[in-house]
Amino acid sequence: MDFRLSEEQELMIETATRIGEQYGVDYWRKLDEAGDYPSEMWQAICDAGFCGVALAEEHGGAGLGMLEMALIVEALCKGGAGSTLSQLFMLNPIFGGVSISKYGSDEMRRTVLPKIISGEIGCCMALTEPDAGTNSLEVRTFAEADGNGWRLNGQKIWISAVPQAEKMLVIARTKKKEDTVRKTDGITMFLIDVAREGVSHQAIDKVGTRCVPASNVFFDNTPVHGDELVGTLHGGWKELLDVLNTERIVTTAGLVGAVHLALGLAVDYANQRKIFGERAISSYQGLQFPLAQAHAEIECASAMNHKAAVLFDAGEEFGGQANMAKLIAAQAAAEGIERAMQTMGGMGYAKEMHVERLWRDARLFRFAPISEEMILNYISIHELGMARGY
Ligand SMILES: Cc1cc2nc3c(=O)[nH]c(=O)nc-3n(C[C@H](O)[C@H](O)[C@H](O)COP(=O)(O)OP(=O)(O)OC[C@H]3O[C@@H](n4cnc5c(N)ncnc54)[C@H](O)[C@@H]3O)c2cc1C
Repeated sequence: MDFRLSEEQELMIETATRIGEQYGVDYWRKLDEAGDYPSEMWQAICDAGFCGVALAEEHGGAGLGMLEMALIVEALCKGGAGSTLSQLFMLNPIFGGVSISKYGSDEMRRTVLPKIISGEIGCCMALTEPDAGTNSLEVRTFAEADGNGWRLNGQKIWISAVPQAEKMLVIARTKKKEDTVRKTDGITMFLIDVAREGVSHQAIDKVGTRCVPASNVFFDNTPVHGDELVGTLHGGWKELLDVLNTERIVTTAGLVGAVHLALGLAVDYANQRKIFGERAISSYQGLQFPLAQAHAEIECASAMNHKAAVLFDAGEEFGGQANMAKLIAAQAAAEGIERAMQTMGGMGYAKEMHVERLWRDARLFRFAPISEEMILNYISIHELGMARGY
């Protein structure tokens, strides 16, 4: 077990740090205020080759791994973006990239993958429905075979970055649940165009992550072409989980960056701020310890996340490590960023100090893309061997 980074990895972190700081806190504050998507930064990330870091060289990627992606996301998010930037990695190299490279057709790999890697097109992923969130197997969006392909009908909710995406990975039933013996049967993934007859969407007003919109999506007899199938017809459930587990690695990396950023802002403030006499408030242990605790927790989450990434890259089972890292990272972020705000007193509440944006944005990751409760269920059942209670 060697925890040291290679020269190439150090160089990538250096470049990611530079881009992260170039599109720093002020850039993100303006986007957040306007509710604008970070398109310019994303293009810079793609131009640096980071979108395709874990994807194959023959499709325009760097042929490296998920560990490199985690290291890059940590550095980019620490530079000023916070956790929201990690969503763009989930959407593009994961939902688009991993699903196509592992389960897509040769044609998709040849035509779509290079465009995702270069930033020419964007992706989104539509799984969640009003009555199917945590319980994803309850999805009712149905793709009915029509001879040439399928016709899609149903509704999705909370789908990120739909207006910015050209392609949407849709998870639908191709067999009704009541017609299956196992409810995991009859789930299928498709990659369709967002701009297509029968697809409409409507933004949802939300607390944070204002730079990445979330939408209700409606499919009204939407045609799906025969060559838009991703993976196995009726057998997409296991393949979907495989894609979703890599999403956790990117989520955790974003949270690691966000906590380091928030702690850095709080420490800088506390080192300057004097209230009672000449000593800076950073010398008060009541302020130090919660920040030190968050630092310790996020470093542990980061190490566990790197382990998950290394296992993924070696083709081994990594779901437990990815989920445990995400659990601790989201909790450390919630508590750590909250305490960073507390350290700044009233100024922590001011937009100009940036911590309030990090606080609003990181809150999302306690229940998405997988909730803390479901990770604890996973650990209880799969790691500890306890009985399933639901
Ligand atoms: C801003 C945002 C962006 C999103 N982006 C996307 C996206 O791009 N694509 C997409 O498909 N989805 C997306 N989601 C959806 C997200 O993945 C879901 O919100 C999440 O999976 C939780 O589902 P739910 O909201 O339906 O909660 P519910 O399933 O209604 O759960 C409610 C609560 O009950 C708890 N709970 C449920 N079952 C159990 C149990 N057995 N034991 C203990 N506790 C339990 C949950 O943990 C949760 O706390 C997004 C959500 C948000 C808010």
